[in-house]
Amino acid sequence: MPITWLWRRWRKRKLAVRITSYHAIYGRKSGISGVPESLNFFLWKACNDILPTKEKLFKRKVVPDPLCPICMSAPESISHILWTCPSAQDVWAECNGKLQKSVCIDGDFIEILLKVGQGLDEDERHLMVTVARSIWLRRNKLVFEGIFQAPATVVRSAREQVEALDNVTRRHSVPSPRSIAREEVVWKKPPQGMVKINWDRGKIGMGAIVRDHSGKVIAMTSGPREFVNDPSLVEALAAREAVDLSISLGFQNCILEGDELELINAITQDEPCRGTYGQIVNDIKFLLLQGGHWKVSHTRRAANGTAHLLAKMGLLLLVSQIWTSDFPPCLDDIVRTEQSF
Ligand SMILES: [Zn+2]
Repeated sequence: MPITWLWRRWRKRKLAVRITSYHAIYGRKSGISGVPESLNFFLWKACNDILPTKEKLFKRKVVPDPLCPICMSAPESISHILWTCPSAQDVWAECNGKLQKSVCIDGDFIEILLKVGQGLDEDERHLMVTVARSIWLRRNKLVFEGIFQAPATVVRSAREQVEALDNVTRRHSVPSPRSIAREEVVWKKPPQGMVKINWDRGKIGMGAIVRDHSGKVIAMTSGPREFVNDPSLVEALAAREAVDLSISLGFQNCILEGDELELINAITQDEPCRGTYGQIVNDIKFLLLQGGHWKVSHTRRAANGTAHLLAKMGLLLLVSQIWTSDFPPCLDDIVRTEQSF
């Protein structure tokens, strides 16, 4: 079976705790809606302990030592690099008010966020997460470019990002002609009694989402995949996995929707396909004939946003995951936006 089913109870429980922590930090409705996806995504990765720290890479035998690339005096865990490392403490000390006074708190990164976040209002929590992300980006700039920013620069940049977002949010009520044009390409709900599966795949990550006629999410999958350099083959492999997922979950009336027009045409035409790509397409055709009612349709990339994000998320996960509840909260915004059309 192409999809590895590795969902286990202990993992689900662990993830549920982490998702609860995430919501406790930001709130399911209030904070997330105004925050950029990149920041939500960063917070979700930090809460789920999947940022590629040296401690993590060392365990996977990717780097020869686990030491923090900045202070070189302790293993680089998420809580170390974002909070307890002297270089991170220097940054937090540059922040004003409660954030500045919180530098003595210790523990797991989620615990730190929860403890500090409890005493902050929404704007301060937003700044806290933005600063944390800026510390992580500063660390990457040092590792990959040899440039190290001063603490004051990091905090100033984070403040500017928060202020810029505030200004955008205030202007949000007047849509620009460009945004109106973009809204015309939107995800559409399937008819009553059918489910729609959207899928996408990058070179090393795959994602798919199943939704019903009301736009409610029924299942999602995301995971890493072997590197494949051929874009057509990549999309075809992902399509086959999406079909496998739907069949495994027992869906009978399905719309399979992807954003690669050439592949959709190849699946829907009667003639057999040739070559490696063709074999996968023929597999898909065979699976679709095994039962149920299938419709295969094309959509634009702009209307395939959640599947696209799931594919990007896939390269950050160690193993493939399938969710039928407790969906990753960093996708709440995009799912809600797509659902509203
Ligand atoms: Zn350090």
